[in-house]
Amino acid sequence: MSEQNIMVQVSNLALTYQSAEGEIEAIRDLSFSVADGEFVSVIGPSGCGKSTLLSIIAGLLSPTAGEIRLAGDGSIGYMLQKDSLFPWRTIRRNVLLGAEIKSGGLRAAEEYADSLLKTYGLWEFRDCFPGQLSGGMRQRAALIRTLAVRPQLLLLDEAFSALDYQTRLAVADDIYSIIRREGKTAMMVTHDISEAVSLSDRVIVLTKRPAVIKSIYDIRFAAGRKSPLQCREEPEFRGYFNQIWRDIDVHV
Ligand code: ADP
Ligand code: MG
Repeated sequence: MSEQNIMVQVSNLALTYQSAEGEIEAIRDLSFSVADGEFVSVIGPSGCGKSTLLSIIAGLLSPTAGEIRLAGDGSIGYMLQKDSLFPWRTIRRNVLLGAEIKSGGLRAAEEYADSLLKTYGLWEFRDCFPGQLSGGMRQRAALIRTLAVRPQLLLLDEAFSALDYQTRLAVADDIYSIIRREGKTAMMVTHDISEAVSLSDRVIVLTKRPAVIKSIYDIRFAAGRKSPLQCREEPEFRGYFNQIWRDIDVHV
């Protein structure tokens, strides 16, 4: 990986929460980078510090030690588990929300947001309210809202886990193809091994809290990368799944 195509550089990152019960060491010492255009997943057991990591990268939390460096203008889009669309705004007003907050250039932002709504099949629903749409379409609208402010880096925190299994597979496929088509760099945290393997170029496995890196896998399929659903059918899929399963080492 050459210097100039690094989008995110995480160096010796650590975070310890100070709480009433004392200190909680969430992240101990994390270093990795994400290349421009790459789709990287971070996986680890529940409570290991995944959301904490994304919050630090998004600039919402300050690390106790270490640093984050973002290339370019450092613009970030953040997608959470719940679609967090405002129910009283139409789909189009929701999608324009970021542009309204970001000062200036609303006209240009409107044109871009409208083109995204058209490209991704939401134009005819633009005047509907979120409550009138399916869970999958709401999640797509949430992604388009995130993309409308043209972030260089997308952060996804368990973005599909509120959906039922069937919908989740379809929505992951949908969101993945939009992210690829728009050429975005993405970092996703999940506790779902199949989801991580089927969507990612690289999977970073974290240990339980305090999180350090347990292993990193380059996900390669001899037949090439197709859709996440198709990746699940590839012969290499099971091997990656089993290795990561062993690494995560869940004790029940
Ligand atoms: P994950 O997303 O991997 O499930 P989190 O990053 O949300 O994990 O949390 C990591 C650990 O830090 C957990 O043990 C959690 O209880 C703790 N934690 C998270 N937020 C806070 C906070 N604001 N204050 C104290 N402890 C926290
Ligand atoms: Mg979390």
